[in-house]
Amino acid sequence: MISISKATSIIEREITTAGSEVVRLQDSVGRILAEDVLADTDMPPFDRSQMDGYAMKAADTKTAPVRLKLVGESAAGRGWHRTLNDGEAIRIMTGAPVPNGADSIQKVELTSDDDNESVMIDEPTEPGKYIVPKGSEIKRREKLFVPGERIDEKMIASLAAFGYARLEVYEQPFVSILGTGTEIVTIEEKPARDQIRNSNSVMLKALCEQAGAKTKTLRQTGDDLEMLKRTISRAVDSRSKIQNPRSKILVITGGVSVGKYDLTKLALRELGADLFFERVRLRPGKPTVFGRLNGTLIFGLPGNPISAAVTFYLFVRTAILRLQGATNAGLPAATAVLGSSAKAAKERDTYLPATIDTDKNGRLIVSPLRWHGSSDFVGFARADVLIVLKPGQIVAAGQPVPIYYLD
Ligand code: AMP
Ligand code: MG
Repeated sequence: MISISKATSIIEREITTAGSEVVRLQDSVGRILAEDVLADTDMPPFDRSQMDGYAMKAADTKTAPVRLKLVGESAAGRGWHRTLNDGEAIRIMTGAPVPNGADSIQKVELTSDDDNESVMIDEPTEPGKYIVPKGSEIKRREKLFVPGERIDEKMIASLAAFGYARLEVYEQPFVSILGTGTEIVTIEEKPARDQIRNSNSVMLKALCEQAGAKTKTLRQTGDDLEMLKRTISRAVDSRSKIQNPRSKILVITGGVSVGKYDLTKLALRELGADLFFERVRLRPGKPTVFGRLNGTLIFGLPGNPISAAVTFYLFVRTAILRLQGATNAGLPAATAVLGSSAKAAKERDTYLPATIDTDKNGRLIVSPLRWHGSSDFVGFARADVLIVLKPGQIVAAGQPVPIYYLD
């Protein structure tokens, strides 16, 4: 049995970053950036007015109220490109360039009596007032984003403003998903006696895609060694027609523990896979398997939907993000106060699904789900975070604990 950090470092060791491709900006959310993003202009590109009002020399307004001669107008997209002299003002709009000679803006609310020839400036201004200087937000050639960053919605305006209509991102890894178990039927079927629906495959498809992968859901198999071997070898076969392009990762659920019909590891071994680890000091998710066959990385996750989800978040998600060159491949971490006491497994790191709330003092409170063990996926559906406990740790209500957001 190995630690989670050891397991993670083994996974990282086996990862080779994918190639890159160029996508349109509007298709880039969720992708991992593969190029440096630089500002191609100063921002703002000119001294910009922050207000609708009048531009003038601040010195001319010292004795306000004062009447200044109106000599022009600067609108957004249609500037006034002469030089302003003493005693003069121009009308100016938000987003418009401030002309040479002007060093201040007075907002329209503090002016009066614009008769097209002159305007009253009712209150004095100061140099620089309501002017955003050229290059004050960002300078030309400055780096905005670097390879390895995940593109999110908030980055799009910047990318657009600096002309990144297309940009280079890492290719999305292809992940095949295989649910196994003689008891599982497809979600379209009505389970007969002794059967349950295959909830893992579709859950993993969603999770893999959220992490940026393209997926293919394989036809589920029973606990049947030959069928398992056939399905797995087809999934990792580069010549196979159904498998185009070849899977970077194959995620299998079920059949990884020690029962008589747990055949996943045996199938992998008989096919000649390298198994890098088979058990992790973790609850839920101890029997997690990681290996490689024919260049495809293989995860064997426990069949329990919660165990499959937790081990996905800890291991498979990391692999998918790293394959895409992501710098941050771990779950977002934080600390919160325990709402009720929590207890770890004796000899394993424990990840408790929990909800978060804020109490009346503004503290982040994390409450372990009252759930019925590692098969309670109905409880898990409401989880926001995982509480992280060390082996044997018992933490009382009110104490701080590390959490991972299920992002
Ligand atoms: P296993 O890992 O094969 O020992 O399965 C552990 C538990 O998870 C058993 O109760 C299985 O019935 C259940 N299980 C296995 N595979 C799935 C699946 N694809 N969807 C839902 N439950 C599953
Ligand atoms: Mg089973």
